[in-house]
Amino acid sequence: MGIAHFLADSDGGFVPNPRHGAKAAAMLEDAQQALSRCKRGSKRRRKAVQTVARLHRKVRRRRLNHAHKTALALVREHDFIAHEDLKIRNMSKAPAPKPDPEQPGSFLPNGAVAKAGLNRSIADAGWGVFLAILAAKAEGAGRQVMAVDPRNTSRRCPACGHTAKENWPTQEKCHCASCGHTAHADTVGALNVLRAGLVHRKAASA
Ligand SMILES: [Zn+2]
Repeated sequence: MGIAHFLADSDGGFVPNPRHGAKAAAMLEDAQQALSRCKRGSKRRRKAVQTVARLHRKVRRRRLNHAHKTALALVREHDFIAHEDLKIRNMSKAPAPKPDPEQPGSFLPNGAVAKAGLNRSIADAGWGVFLAILAAKAEGAGRQVMAVDPRNTSRRCPACGHTAKENWPTQEKCHCASCGHTAHADTVGALNVLRAGLVHRKAASA
């Protein structure tokens, strides 16, 4: 799961981010800033609260539609699905935005950190919803879904197993320093997540 794409799969496919996601996030950010400038108890503030709530619903609706569509396609085509464990991944992430205690789901203004934090939290919420829907659909269809520790999954060459930071000259291109194998870095990450999942499955059934 990433920012450039919603997700990359181990076959080299990519699911783009929800089309209106970035626009909705920008509108939500503006609305939250407008809200933070309103006087407590004022009529303008009440209206601003409604606007933020309406945009939250919009983002939520789009996120749900996108998650259902993406999960259904995966469950139809695959018996076993491994994905990054979001909880483990988020433990090594940048500082979280400051939540506004009066407005659940919104954030106090603190400049660039708030902006990055908002984008980040919208993306994280999208994956969280997606993984919950994926798990439910998979269970209904008798498929297996497994969360895998994502650490080091993007550093290992899928062709020869060489594991090094230098394998990635850019974020997108992976070029193995040992065997010369090239691939998109996110495809490599997805392949390694799948392999780790398969190893766990084998160990669990042994
Ligand atoms: Zn290699």
